[in-house]
Amino acid sequence: MSSQPHIALPWVVRRTRLPLLSLRCVDCPSRSATTGKGRFRVNANGKLLDVWLLVRCVSCDRTSKLTVHERAPVRSLDPALLDGYYANDPTLVAATLLDPQFARRLGLALDWQGAWQLDAPPARLDEAWPWHVAVDFEAAVPIRPDRLIAQGLRLSRNEVLRRVKCDISLRRHTSVGFTFIVMTKVSTY
Ligand SMILES: [Zn+2]
Repeated sequence: MSSQPHIALPWVVRRTRLPLLSLRCVDCPSRSATTGKGRFRVNANGKLLDVWLLVRCVSCDRTSKLTVHERAPVRSLDPALLDGYYANDPTLVAATLLDPQFARRLGLALDWQGAWQLDAPPARLDEAWPWHVAVDFEAAVPIRPDRLIAQGLRLSRNEVLRRVKCDISLRRHTSVGFTFIVMTKVSTY
């Protein structure tokens, strides 16, 4: 058979909401918190500012304050940034929560389950093999390629490992675009 130029199926990973945070609640057994609509609290003390991101326990609604800036000289903060904190700017809420240094400094993990979706054209299993798929990330959502591909193709993860050729590790989280090839199921000569 002549080889045809393959057109890669476009898959897109989109963020549907902000991830939850792993945060032990002091009032109930829950270990999960949400930024909800996103609120900051700013406290000015002379020329020093404290800024917190407020999060709520997903179970009992208790509010916790996560330090964004602690005793920061007012002049050290960009006025536009400060306005964003006062206005509870949703973009700034997202940027704060998703800043890896913020989570690392506070020892928090982000829980992305249910916070993203895969937009993929329907798979046609009768079409010519092998398939090429190009995965693009609209937002930096860390996913495991084997799980994403299993979901997108409705295959078991074992089948994904057998049939998918990919230039990155299928089991390591990524949030950078990649491509893969799906090989045909069984030889039927
Ligand atoms: Zn709670």
